[in-house]
Amino acid sequence: MANHVFGRGSGALPTATRGEGCYIYDEAGRAYLDGSGGAAVSCLGHSDETVRAAIHAQLDQIAFAHTGFFTSEPAEALADKLIAHAPDGIDRVYLLSGGSEAVEAAIKLARQYALEIGQPGRHRIIARRQSYHGNTLGALAAGGNAWRREKYAPLLMETYHIDPCFEYHHRHDGESLEDYGQRAAQALEDEIQRLGPETVLAFIAEPVVGATAGAVPSAGDYFKHIREICDRHGVLLILDEVMCGMGRTGTFFACEQDGVAPDIVTIAKGLGAGYAPIGAMLSSARIFNAIAQGSGSFQHGHTYHGHPLAAAAGNAVVSRILDDGLLPQVRDRGDALEAALRQRFGQHPHVGDIRGRGLFRGIELVEDRDTKQSFDPSRKLNAKVKKAAMDEGLICYPAGGTVDGRVGDHVLLAPPFIISEDQIGELVDKLSNALDRALAA
Ligand code: PMP
Repeated sequence: MANHVFGRGSGALPTATRGEGCYIYDEAGRAYLDGSGGAAVSCLGHSDETVRAAIHAQLDQIAFAHTGFFTSEPAEALADKLIAHAPDGIDRVYLLSGGSEAVEAAIKLARQYALEIGQPGRHRIIARRQSYHGNTLGALAAGGNAWRREKYAPLLMETYHIDPCFEYHHRHDGESLEDYGQRAAQALEDEIQRLGPETVLAFIAEPVVGATAGAVPSAGDYFKHIREICDRHGVLLILDEVMCGMGRTGTFFACEQDGVAPDIVTIAKGLGAGYAPIGAMLSSARIFNAIAQGSGSFQHGHTYHGHPLAAAAGNAVVSRILDDGLLPQVRDRGDALEAALRQRFGQHPHVGDIRGRGLFRGIELVEDRDTKQSFDPSRKLNAKVKKAAMDEGLICYPAGGTVDGRVGDHVLLAPPFIISEDQIGELVDKLSNALDRALAA
């Protein structure tokens, strides 16, 4: 089939014609095991009957009603479920069509809040290097991935980036995880002081870094220190759970494992599980009330936000995750995946680190395990791994290979929550073959 739709890939792509469980089939009938849910999207696999039925049922009722005039049953039902399981203090939901939109809305909500409480000087966003928050201009400006930003740099609002909490690369020899977590958080304190606390609006971070670093969780009490620093300076904490949320790490929100509640949290990807484009920004009562009692409403909006069909899909996905025992399953299968990765790659001369939580795992590829030296980007190793994996019938998410801080090539794995033990074995076998072929190329 001619490729006239332009997307990410260069060259001809196979055409996805059918999905069944953890597999995608192309026009030639070839099966691909979806080891990364695309980009951590397809958490329920590709043929979930409950979600499909919910979309059909909603379509028979009403497909669209503009949120300027109406709310809808699926949107309210979804919001209720999200709130019931959200971190402390979060009690409002703003539905959008994806992750970048959710991050844009979060940044604007934070700014409007600062105005409502009489602090117009707050406008600076601090984020972290090697992070990704989306591709629209505001979200791209917040993200700290040098390669994604560089072409658009003159268009981006000014933002400030500190080092991430990244144990493998930044923890000193002999330093405890606790001490390292505290030292990494100190970077935020230092940056706030440097900029002037009264000018800082928000700090945004992914609890487990996804696309740009390969499933990097925090160390020690990093996020508790971050929370304390934000509170002390009146800076809002925005957690971006677009990739790591919705059960992916074994808890519904990833930040539950860090013991913190944000002021604003963004979700997408697993929320629609690929059945509909949907994202959400969840806000604390404090922020919502300040706006409700101030100018009355959040000055933002998109034509398709709160779309009933997408909300029906999201509502069914969330029910599946919460009511059908999928969270404990993610923890169990996540442990099995980690064990299989450690067994296969623990001694591999070019696998420097195996990391992550739940069914959100990453391996980092290095030239030299002792020095943690990454491969030269000109080798394009991650692109070779992706191609070799597709040839093996495996979808995984390799990235990196740019001179961006210290992280080199890595492979992100985020299979559907319904992956079986056998399929975990198949995933690791295929990944191992793909790595061998890519390293030999
Ligand atoms: N934030 C994070 C953490 C993400 O991983 C992504 C997508 N990879 C986004 C935001 C942007 O989401 P979307 O592609 O749905 O706009």
